[in-house]
Parts: sequence; C-alpha cells; structure tokens
Amino acid sequence: MDAIGYLRRLQSEVGPRRAGTPGEARARAWLLGVLGEVGVLAEEREYAFLGSPLVRYAIAWVRNMALFVFLLFSRQLDSIIVLGGVVLHQLYSSRLHPRLMLRLARTRSQNILASLEKPFSEHLDEPQRPTLLICAHYDTPQNLPRWIVRMIKKMRSVGPLLSMTMLTLFAVLFLMSVFNLLDMLFGVGSQALTALSTFWIKVGYWIMVAVFVPQLLLITIYILDLLLREHGDSPGADDNGSGVALVLEMIERLKKSPPANLETFFAFWGAEELGLYGSRQFVRQYGGRLDKGSTYIVNADVVGVGEKLLIHTGQGVMFRRKTDPEIVTALIDICEALDVAYLRSWESPISGGSSDHAEWAERGFSKAVSLLRENPKKLSWPARALAFLLRVPDPAQFDIEHVHTPEDTIDIIREDVLAATVDVCEAYVRWIDAHAAVEQGTGGGA
Ligand SMILES: [Zn+2]
Repeated sequence: MDAIGYLRRLQSEVGPRRAGTPGEARARAWLLGVLGEVGVLAEEREYAFLGSPLVRYAIAWVRNMALFVFLLFSRQLDSIIVLGGVVLHQLYSSRLHPRLMLRLARTRSQNILASLEKPFSEHLDEPQRPTLLICAHYDTPQNLPRWIVRMIKKMRSVGPLLSMTMLTLFAVLFLMSVFNLLDMLFGVGSQALTALSTFWIKVGYWIMVAVFVPQLLLITIYILDLLLREHGDSPGADDNGSGVALVLEMIERLKKSPPANLETFFAFWGAEELGLYGSRQFVRQYGGRLDKGSTYIVNADVVGVGEKLLIHTGQGVMFRRKTDPEIVTALIDICEALDVAYLRSWESPISGGSSDHAEWAERGFSKAVSLLRENPKKLSWPARALAFLLRVPDPAQFDIEHVHTPEDTIDIIREDVLAATVDVCEAYVRWIDAHAAVEQGTGGGA
C-alpha cells in the first residue's frame, strides 16, 4: 500500500491519538497490526512522559514567572547581578530544563520499534553495519485556541521585534557591568557608568517592563484557557498521520530491496506534541550505545501539505548543532534531481517549532534530519534583523494554517506532496547506503 492509502486507513480506523488518551493506545494496536501484515519484526519500547497538564503548565509558568519577577526587581540590583541572572536563566532553559522534564516524567507509554532484519537489541550488542533509523511520531496534538493561532501569525514580526528590544537592553546591562568592573578595578569609566545607569533606570527598565508584563499576562491567560476550556483534538492527518504513512510505505519499499550496507530500523514515537518525549527518552536510553558518526536518523513530520521540503542545516542559537554538511548537500541534490522545491532552514526561535530529530542533534548525532513540508513566508524585517544579530545561518518562517487545528483532516492532504516526499526519503536512503559502502570500504567498518 502507498502512503496515502495508509494515511486514509489511519485516519478512519484510529482517529485522533493524543498521548494519554485511549486513541493513543488504539494507534499503537493499529500500528502493530499493520507491521504484522507487512511482515516486519515489531516491538514496544516503554518510555515516560509528563502526563499531567496541570504539572506541565505549572512548571512552564513558574519558569517564565521566575525571570519576570527577577527582572521586575532588577532596578534595585547591581548590573552585574542582573546580567548574571539572565545568563543563568538562559543556561538553565537551554540545558538543564529539558533534561529535568525527562527526569520528572512518570506517565508510561510506548514507542514502537520495527526492524528489517536484526532486532534492535542484537544490533546494539554487536553493531556490524551503520545504523539507519526512519521514524515519525504517531501521537496527535490538541487544538490550539483560535486566538493563539492568530497571535502566532502576528508574532512572526512582533516576536523578533520584542527579542531585539530585549537584546538591546541586555547589551546596555552588559556595558554597565563592564564599566562597573573597570570602575571597581582601575577607577575608570565611572562617567560612562553613570550615564548608562541613568538611561537604564529612567528609560530602559520601563521599556523592559512594557515588553514583559503583557507577555506574562498572555502566557497566564493561555494556560488558563487550555486548562479551563475544552479545545478538542486535532485530527492530525498532516501532523503527523502523514509522517507515519511515509514510514509505513518506506518499510514496504525497503523490505522489497533492503539497504545492503545498513542495519535498518523504523520507529514510531509517542508524546511528541507534549515535548518530544518518546524520541528524547529513547535517545537518552540508547543513544550512548550508538555510534554518532555512523547513525543516520530520518524523521518525517508534517509531510502532506507544504510546497517546500525543509532541509535542516542545524539548530540552536546559544548552543549550535550543525547538520553534517555532506547530508545537506546530498538532500539538496536529491530534491533537485526529483524536482522537489526545497528550503534550507536553521531551527531557532525565528523559525519556531521542532521535531524528533532535535534530541539526536542535541546529543551530537550530526546525521539526524527531519523531513518536513512547509509553506514558507517571506521573512519579516524584524526577523531578518534578529537573524543578522544572532548570526542565524538560514533563517526561515512558515505558515501554521492547518497544523494543531480541527482543519488538519485527510481532505487537505496533497497526494502529490506526500508521494514526492516518500520518493525523496527513498532516494536519501539509497544515497546513505551507497555512502556507507564507500566509508566502510576506505575507513574499515563502523
Ligand atoms: Zn508533529
């Protein structure tokens, strides 16, 4: 069966499958059934996610609130302490917080893992060939409140503008700290310090308050809205029935002609929409036993609608992870050969969003990519300026018309888009297979 056939079956036989609902369990049973029909080895692998929405939102709220409150009192604090606080918060947010979430997770669920030849555990014990893992998340999201969908659209230009304002103010704080230090150590720079402090106290601080207070209010209203009103589940045809369907067709294609130089596996991740839990717990559990240089991850997420195929060139601003440039080139060549429109994109706050390749990339697997189809939007000028300031290599912004809404139904899926993405995926797998053969031939195994 081709991808669109699988997608139609999934949407009609299973329906919404949000993590923690009966639909999620139904989806797993359906997947195991289909994998049995196709005749591949499949198993469930347990992981944990943070199940309680109340706890999830409370943690998010406290985390935002802590920085706000600290900054609101910052006028009384020394500039060096303020700057230190901001840097610590950044470090915590990007490094510690994601790991803490994984550790707090207690609700059990299952990823589904399938293999073409060897069981995964056998491969882990004695890897003989490079690893190929083709994957997609099987859970679906909750619908976003309408006003948030409208707000996200506005945020394409307002968001980067606010970020730039804050960056400028932090630059002032940074300069104040520098002059403060110079004054303390060598007794110079006190005039500059006084001028900057006056600016900060009379103007800068109030600009910051004007930026932060509405943000805090919006976050609070958003969380209350999600907790108190019923928003229902998105049908999830594109996000991510399309990715699941792509993986299923790939299984059929690769079963007919398996890659000769790769150990091939397939994964269906759970609880992606709640914070990429399925894939992140999997990487945390097994990543240490896989070779970073010879593990290829191909993740499919929202591949049924958008005009352009996104090619991830890397992710992060403070801590940067670059995709292996050889892979980027290979994917671009494949898109050009197959006449599929593509767009280079570096994942950052400008692009927003993420997917199940992220934790792999974060932990140093540079051959981890997600295939996504998006309708790119012209970059707003604040986004352009912010990308320049933060030195984001391939900034991009997209539409979110249907994703996470009731409109994400089978009717909006474009068969040609889905089919073309499956072709790109197969061509990429064939490239990896040939590439692995060359590397093994000259480099002596993996
Ligand atoms: Zn998704």
